[in-house]
Amino acid sequence: MTGPLSGPLMGPLPSLAPSTLVPDGAAPPVLQLEEVTKTYPVEPPVEALRGVSFSIHQGDLLAIVGPSGSGKTTLLHLMGALDRPTSGRVLVTGFDVATLADRELSALRATRIGFVFQQFFLAEHQSVLDNVADGLLYAGASLAERRRAASQALLRVGLADKLASLPTKLSGGQRQRVAIARAIVGRPAIVLADEPTGNLDSGSGASVLELFAELNAQGSTIAVITHDMGVAGRMNRVVRLLDGLVVSDGPAGAGPEGGGRE
Ligand code: ADP
Ligand code: MG
Repeated sequence: MTGPLSGPLMGPLPSLAPSTLVPDGAAPPVLQLEEVTKTYPVEPPVEALRGVSFSIHQGDLLAIVGPSGSGKTTLLHLMGALDRPTSGRVLVTGFDVATLADRELSALRATRIGFVFQQFFLAEHQSVLDNVADGLLYAGASLAERRRAASQALLRVGLADKLASLPTKLSGGQRQRVAIARAIVGRPAIVLADEPTGNLDSGSGASVLELFAELNAQGSTIAVITHDMGVAGRMNRVVRLLDGLVVSDGPAGAGPEGGGRE
């Protein structure tokens, strides 16, 4: 998975009925992973995830951290409903990913999840405003409505004065803010960010992490996937991954690495 989520995902929204009915009517966790495995059928097979279980609840601000090869990208693909597990269950806002048809998965992705990638993936010849407005293409709103929502999202990320700019005129930190605005414009249940500071200098990176904390304080649920313990230590919760297994899950600072800087 590399490109922005567009094109093939567009189309009318299929109806989605919750597969998990919570008895007291409370909202299910935003994301639930139950004994999830993923084996790549290469020769010899690679067991990238070997039984991963944890939940993400509304309002969480967490890091999923681990060294290269520990299974982070594989896990991101499963959490983002971009791929299905080999075994175990992945539930996104109560919907079991394994039970959904491809079109329903696309709908789930487009309406429940906001993606932020290390490489930003902005359309270079489109204004900042329209890059963000594209985040609502799936919702079927008019261009005027999409642009109105986009300008609000850009205000939230501190770019109200850049609506008409082209991404090429912006700094890396500003580009990542545009990508974050695009991720939140549809009010997703969760934002999944894959190494969001990986292409930024430390100052811009710190300011992007501060923005995540602000958005989280306003109610956004955010998971940051990173290999950088310094980044992880800025989140409220840290899930550590090693060789396809969760080896710790708790408040930042509680793990063996202490959540400190590398
Ligand atoms: P990380 O993002 O933490 O570096 P990955 O999820 O990318 O970890 O990879 C976990 C393991 O799965 C690694 O051993 C990697 O080589 C392997 N892997 C990842 N994607 C594939 C694939 N498409 N085919 C085969 N092996 C893969
Ligand atoms: Mg990776």
